[in-house]
Amino acid sequence: MKPLIDHALVLERHPYMETSAVVSVLTRRHGLIRLLARGLQRPKSRFFALLDFFDELELEWAPAKRSELAHLKSGSMSVRRRGITRDLRRYTAATSLLELAKLGSRPGQVETDLFMLLSTALTELDAGELSADEIRVRFQLEFLRQHGLSPALERCAACGGEAPPTPGSRPRVGFSAGAGGRLCAPCAAEARASGRRVGTLPLDVLVTAARMLAGESRITTPERLVRVRDFVERFLDYHLEARPRSHRLFLAEDNRNAPHLPVPMGD
Ligand SMILES: [Zn+2]
Repeated sequence: MKPLIDHALVLERHPYMETSAVVSVLTRRHGLIRLLARGLQRPKSRFFALLDFFDELELEWAPAKRSELAHLKSGSMSVRRRGITRDLRRYTAATSLLELAKLGSRPGQVETDLFMLLSTALTELDAGELSADEIRVRFQLEFLRQHGLSPALERCAACGGEAPPTPGSRPRVGFSAGAGGRLCAPCAAEARASGRRVGTLPLDVLVTAARMLAGESRITTPERLVRVRDFVERFLDYHLEARPRSHRLFLAEDNRNAPHLPVPMGD
């Protein structure tokens, strides 16, 4: 079979035998590929220090015939993103994006949009101009959109009508991950009656998420961003039917958007 060449981002890397590694990469035009990189751990190997996380690579591989492992033939670096490894917040955010990209891609499927989304977010994390949380949350929202799982943020997920907030100084709206997002009062009652979990979320959290998804930048405080992230990660967990490893520590805390909590300082 003819070798293939493509841009690639390393998602996972596992040692294999004494000196080799099995590497999962997301490629621009060929989707998720699992590669055997022979001799990767040998300092004299031509792949040594090539297959680092976060960098953009150009790889050539021989597709596998029967076994699912392709063989890496050659590679070069096209974008080095060392800035990410110099800052713990950016590093943990970047690691989390790789994990989500892995969960969201299937072998044999072209994932060009996901590749572009990941590559852009890694470039932003490397540059360090936007906060790591902003880049992370926007990636998560876009990831949901690409998978057809965008939460309804502005109108009722069930009937498409208006979903007014509760009156008061801290307006909240009905919300159900299982029903697809924001709910008007009648649809919330109906969802509850059919056994769905329905809660409420602060209106400001949904409005901020909608503006971020519309491409607005630097629109909120770090405190509110943490609450938006809390909502988006819980929504993601629900739809992935699993809690990604990189979400566990953050979501080990109680729901930061619970109704009884005071508004955080600075928000
Ligand atoms: Zn409704």
